[in-house]
Amino acid sequence: MYPLGMNSDCIFCKIVAGTLPCTRVYEDDDILAFMDIGPIIKGHTLVIPKVHVDPITSVPDELLATLIRIVRKIAGAQMKGLEADGINITQANGRVAGQVVPHLHFHVIPRFENDGHSWNWNAHPYDSPDEMEGIASRIRSGLPMEI
Ligand code: 5GP
Ligand code: ZN
Repeated sequence: MYPLGMNSDCIFCKIVAGTLPCTRVYEDDDILAFMDIGPIIKGHTLVIPKVHVDPITSVPDELLATLIRIVRKIAGAQMKGLEADGINITQANGRVAGQVVPHLHFHVIPRFENDGHSWNWNAHPYDSPDEMEGIASRIRSGLPMEI
């Protein structure tokens, strides 16, 4: 376990603690995977660390590695168990990014031919190569000295 604790105001912490119900798909000491109550596609599963941590930038490397390994296992289980044709994995940080529950979670969403879902993914080009380079440079300036 990781010494980050739980947040008594958090619905996912309540799910971990068992004070709110959920349909569990997988759990171990550190990770819980459970069915999303409002699935984009039936089978949509959430994978969370049991400790309260948010956003993704604050999760310890080791816990994130454990979490993403289970995300991959759930994706594989949806392909095998549900015969999914594909999988979307999404993860939101912050209200502007569409995050509703501020406890780190990955959405693992099974996709099927003709499942009727399409992402509202509107691509907008840069005004110029210079604009793209300038923005890339600002991101680089935010990278830590050691990765
Ligand atoms: P977010 O928008 O924060 O990335 O996603 C939160 C997800 O949690 C949503 O897909 C929503 O349907 C799901 N959710 C919210 N409350 C509950 C709950 O009480 N139980 C379960 N199983 N899922 C929930
Ligand atoms: Zn929480």
